Formats: sequence, structure tokens, C-alpha cells
Amino acid sequence: MRYVSTRGQAPAVSASQAILAGIAPDGGLYVPEQWPQISLEWRALANQSYQEIAELILAAFLDDFTPMEIQSVVQAAYGAQWDSSNIVNLHQVGNLHYMELFHGPTLAFKDVALQALPHLLTTAAAKQGNHDKIVILTATSGDTGTAAMSGFGNVDQTEILVFYPEIGVSDIQRQQMQTESATNAHVTAITGNFDDAQRAVKSLLGQKELQERLAQHQLRFSSANSINIGRLIPQIVYYIYAYAQLVKQGQIQAGQMVDIAVPTGNFGNILAAYYASQIGLPVNEFTVASNENNVLTDFFNTGCYDRRRHFKVTSAPAMDILVSSNLERLIYFASGQNSQEVAEYMQALDENGFYQLKATTQANLNHFKAGYANEEQIKATIHSTFQQDGYLLDPHTAVGRFVIDQHSDLKRPTLLAATASPYKFPQAVLTALDQPVVGGQSGLVALATCTNSKIPAQIQTLFDQPILHKQVIQPDQIQTTIDQLLF
Ligand SMILES: *Cc1c(COP(=O)(O)O)cnc(C)c1O
Repeated sequence: MRYVSTRGQAPAVSASQAILAGIAPDGGLYVPEQWPQISLEWRALANQSYQEIAELILAAFLDDFTPMEIQSVVQAAYGAQWDSSNIVNLHQVGNLHYMELFHGPTLAFKDVALQALPHLLTTAAAKQGNHDKIVILTATSGDTGTAAMSGFGNVDQTEILVFYPEIGVSDIQRQQMQTESATNAHVTAITGNFDDAQRAVKSLLGQKELQERLAQHQLRFSSANSINIGRLIPQIVYYIYAYAQLVKQGQIQAGQMVDIAVPTGNFGNILAAYYASQIGLPVNEFTVASNENNVLTDFFNTGCYDRRRHFKVTSAPAMDILVSSNLERLIYFASGQNSQEVAEYMQALDENGFYQLKATTQANLNHFKAGYANEEQIKATIHSTFQQDGYLLDPHTAVGRFVIDQHSDLKRPTLLAATASPYKFPQAVLTALDQPVVGGQSGLVALATCTNSKIPAQIQTLFDQPILHKQVIQPDQIQTTIDQLLF
């Protein structure tokens, strides 16, 4: 299999080259040139474990990895660090099937990919004869930083540098970051908000001089962001696995169409669902659910992508995004793999802040429905779902639940990606349940008590852990901080 750039100005590469590079040299994103041929025998898949299905899918997309390499990546990624040996659990309410993607070490769906990515990256590097140490540099507001550290922590040949803003992270997230104990993880707070942290990190990634100094020290930067194809492919697995489980449970016949709904930010998770459909998952409709940063809702309804609007801070912060990078990968296929057309849209977005799809391209997106939930609707959905179904949602999953109700009568079996544990956002959930809001360990205990549920083992002793990372810097100190950490 070859991977090509969505913008058409970079040579085709192998899977391991695409993973190692992250982004293509022309600024585009790597996509498979052709879909791999896999025969999805649902009755057989129904009796396979998550790990077996992961091996099947990874081997098909990453065809320059040996079976042994794939097997060792899967073993390292989907082992005892999960609180369920199934990795992904399904929770049924009528025709709605919550696909719980939050049973990993940091309680959010990013663990599924980020437990695998470090092993994919180091294997790809070895395969390419590259012996440099891989340095992951990331600015994070939400779940990426903690999930990346959990994945890369203590993986040989990697260093991970996380910068998070002093303002705008939940107390669980701050505690997860400050107590990270892996010796190759370096965590620093930056004064200001996420934008300030992001800008400081981006200014470094573009520096030629820094790249050269890294090379002299046998180091190279890489990305843990979902622009890396190595993050998307592991996410295809759970759609295939969940469907096979529904067949096993007798909920659906093999081959029967399902709907899929996903709370969406950077468009990685729902893109993986689309990829799954391209290799044979029978999907009738995709529902793209957004919060008040509803650029994608407007896009799917009008064909116009317009980022010229205010950024809103919401209770579903992992979806507070105005430019959804992975949408480029969907448009590439909707345009009939027309890289010239994609490059024009992306240039227009960069220069003017918006682009309008051609009618023919827009028509190819008619399986996608979109909607959004505002802050009140998120709270009301958490409240009513707990009252009616006794099922506790986090704010991101609540967005998905709300948007399903807008568009669907749930006549068809529907998979909804449940992307975070409610325990990752105890304050928002307590508010929605009309409970007094308390922080730290007390917040966890309050949530457990009022919902008669258990604090997940992953964070049971989180607030007893010693704080290891106390450093706070100004944005302009980032360069000297990195020098101290790396050289
Ligand atoms: C990252 C994240 C999302 C958004 O996923 P994308 O792949 O960026 O669309 C949704 N919910 C949670 C909890 C997340 O951490």
C-alpha cells in the first residue's frame, strides 16, 4: 500500500514512512492511495477479540509491518492498562448502542490511538533505519497531553514534552499532568490560555535552526496529533469490533446497515468511521455532532467552511476547535481524489478564512448529517439521560446524544461514540445533575455518591500522587526551557 498527500505535491510513501513523517512535505495529509482489500466475515469476527481484530485491520493498512511487528504493537497497546479486557464496551439503550471508548489509562478515547502510536512510530523508525530519538512536542488544552504522556511514557527512544496553559484545563487534567511519573515525560505550564501555549509551541516547530540542533543530538520532532495516519488507523478497529459484537449479540444481522454518531472536534474519530465504511462496514448515515463551535454543522448543511467566528470555551473542551484538520481527508475522497481541488480549498481557508465546496463534491457528502448542542442542551441531556436511562454521560458524549435526537427516530441500530468518562469532567457533570460543585478528590467522591457509581480505578488515587511537575513559564521562555530539557 502507498500513502499519498491530499494536496498532490508530495511523492507517495509507504505506511511506515507516512507514520514517521506525520504531515506530508506539501502541507497535505497522508491518505491511502487505495483501500486495502479485507474480507470482513462478520460471523467469524463476532467471535474474535478486540486484539485479534486490531491485528487484522492494522496489518491491512500497514502492509510494510511484519505480522510479528503488528502483534507486538497490539500487545503493548491493548493490555492490562485498560480496565476492560474488551478494550471497548457497549452499553445498550434500545436501538442506541454507546460505544464506550474511555476504558484506557486517561479515561478518554484518545487512549485507543495513543497507546498504539508510540510503538507504531518507533517500529516505523527502526524500519526506515532511523536511529534518532523521537521527540514529541505538544501543546494541549484537553485530553491529548495526558493521553500522549500515558502512551509515550517510558517508551524507549522517545521523549515527550507537554506544554499546557495555566488557564482552561480541568482539575483532573492538571493533576494527571503534574503527577506524570514517566522519566521521559516533561510537563510545563505556560502562563495564559491554550492559544498562547499553542502559539509558543508552533513558533518552535517551524524553526530550521532548532531542527538542525536536534539532528546534531540524534533527535527529531514528531507529532502526536491526529494528522498522523498512525493515529487514525487504530481508531478504525473499534467500529469493526463494535459492529461484530452487535452481530454476536443478535442485535443485527451480518450485513445490516447501522447509523454512526460521533461527537467531533478535529474530525479524526468520525473520519475513522468513514474509513471503516470504505473497507466494508455497512453504514447508512454518519452524524457529526458539535458543540457551540459549530463550524462543521454549518459546513455539512451549506457546503461552506467558514472559520471566521469567535472561539467559544465550552464544557466539552476537546471539541472547541475552529479548524478541523482531518476534514481535508474526507473532502479528498468526496472530490474524487482531486488533490488540486483540495489544495485550492485549503489555500482559500488559509488566505480568506473560508471556502465553498463545488456542488458535485458536496453531493458526495450526503451520507453525513450534522448538528450541535449549546451549553444548556448539554446539561439538560446529561440530566435527562441519567433520569430516564440511569446512564451517566460526559459533556462530549452528551453532545452526540442530543444531536442524534435532533436527526433520528432511532429506528435503525445506532452506534454512538462515548468519548470520555463522566469522571473526567466531574464539575460539569455535577452541575448538570443540580449538585453542589466541589473540586479535587471531593468532586470525584460527590459524583460517585450522587450517582451510586464507582470512581474509575485509573483516578482513584490521583489526588494522592506527588506533584512532580511544578514549573510555570512565560510563553517567551519556551525556547530556553526546551534547550534545558533536550540539550
Ligand atoms: C478529542 C476528543 C473529541 C474529538 O475527537 P476528534 O477526533 O478530534 O473529532 C471528542 N471527545 C473527547 C472526549 C475528546 O478527547
